[in-house]
Amino acid sequence: MRTVFRDDHWMLQTQVARFVEQEILPYYAQWEDLGVTPRSLWRKAGANGLLNCAIPAPWGHGGDFGHAAVVIEEIARANCLGIGFSIHSDMVAPYILRLGTQEQKNRWLPRMTEGECIGAIAMTEPDAGSDLKSIRTRAKRSGRHYVLSGQKTFVTNGSHADLVLVLASTAPELGARGLSLFAVERGMPGFRQGQPLRKIGQHAQDTCELFFDDVQIPASHRLGDENAGFEYVTSELAQERLAIALRAAAHLEGMIESTCDYVKQRKAFGRRVMDFQNTRFTLSRAMSQSSMLRVFLDDCLARHMRGELDAVTAAMAKLNATEMQNALLDDMLQLFGGYGYMADVGIGRAWADARALRIFGGTSEIMNEIIGRSL
Ligand SMILES: Cc1cc2nc3c(=O)[nH]c(=O)nc-3n(C[C@H](O)[C@H](O)[C@H](O)COP(=O)(O)OP(=O)(O)OC[C@H]3O[C@@H](n4cnc5c(N)ncnc54)[C@H](O)[C@@H]3O)c2cc1C
Repeated sequence: MRTVFRDDHWMLQTQVARFVEQEILPYYAQWEDLGVTPRSLWRKAGANGLLNCAIPAPWGHGGDFGHAAVVIEEIARANCLGIGFSIHSDMVAPYILRLGTQEQKNRWLPRMTEGECIGAIAMTEPDAGSDLKSIRTRAKRSGRHYVLSGQKTFVTNGSHADLVLVLASTAPELGARGLSLFAVERGMPGFRQGQPLRKIGQHAQDTCELFFDDVQIPASHRLGDENAGFEYVTSELAQERLAIALRAAAHLEGMIESTCDYVKQRKAFGRRVMDFQNTRFTLSRAMSQSSMLRVFLDDCLARHMRGELDAVTAAMAKLNATEMQNALLDDMLQLFGGYGYMADVGIGRAWADARALRIFGGTSEIMNEIIGRSL
């Protein structure tokens, strides 16, 4: 029994599991074909209290990060990695909460909690991802406005987003110390959202390019201080990486369970596939490793809920969880034989969807750099 969660977390878990079963799973394949999840899902999630769980009242549901973790985990456990709630609730909203003025919080957070305003964050550019210092999107001050020009790519929730937090350079001569964060709203003249990019997995996720062609951003849409963007971004990374690690671990656990179910009913040479020693050893290894991961991540989660999770430990969490998830999913896919390679069988989708977790939120190599530098 996990001790990190209280009764109120477990109650939410029951509610989220029901929501996933009734409102996500029956339609997920259809959304994968469409390349996007519908707005109606966001509204339903808002009405059921699944968005901005950890944002305080009156803007959010007033829970802690444990409640956010429950939502992240239940969606991942059901093998629905394409649902983009976590970026919205656990990244975009916390930036607004931490850096926003009262007016900015009132303007965006309640609508985000209701699912009426979908949030995204745009840092990556075609020529700059790991190395955010070299981004070229420029925001030039002009009286009471900034003029934003440039391009972003790989933006989760990009085509639906009503609000995008954009990292842009306000002082190119200062490099990383010259970046600022801006809140760009759908429909601002000059702001264009591309079609969902064709990816190898997470097909229900509308990951997009965004284009800014001299968009006039009111100065009141800057989040926090000018030129402090890099510092803000790096200080939010621990939570973002923990969120990804929790997704990876719950996803892995869910797939171990469904793999066990499959090998118990599939037969070869007159025996259940589960009866082959290789199968039992593969699943035994998966179960042992994921159990160990769970203990480490619950400790990270408890630390984060106390405000004590540091950047290096968060990097270890993301590195361990996503590398383990990918390696073990590959082993488990093998146990499905040819069915494992079929797009409509859960394990194949899980395998392809999981691949992105070693890349976004900082690649595994960047995690190793962060950890290595601390030694
Ligand atoms: C599905 C998906 C969703 C995404 N969602 C978002 C989003 O919502 N918002 C957003 O801003 N971005 C998003 N991203 C982008 C993601 O964060 C970047 O792809 C990631 O940070 C890597 O940047 P890059 O693609 O430019 O790769 P590069 O930085 O070009 O890296 C290429 C290779 O070089 C390696 N490398 C780079 N620097 C070093 C180093 N110092 N030491 C060792 N190796 C290094 C990398 O690890 C990688 O293997 C998403 C990406 C994907 C795939």
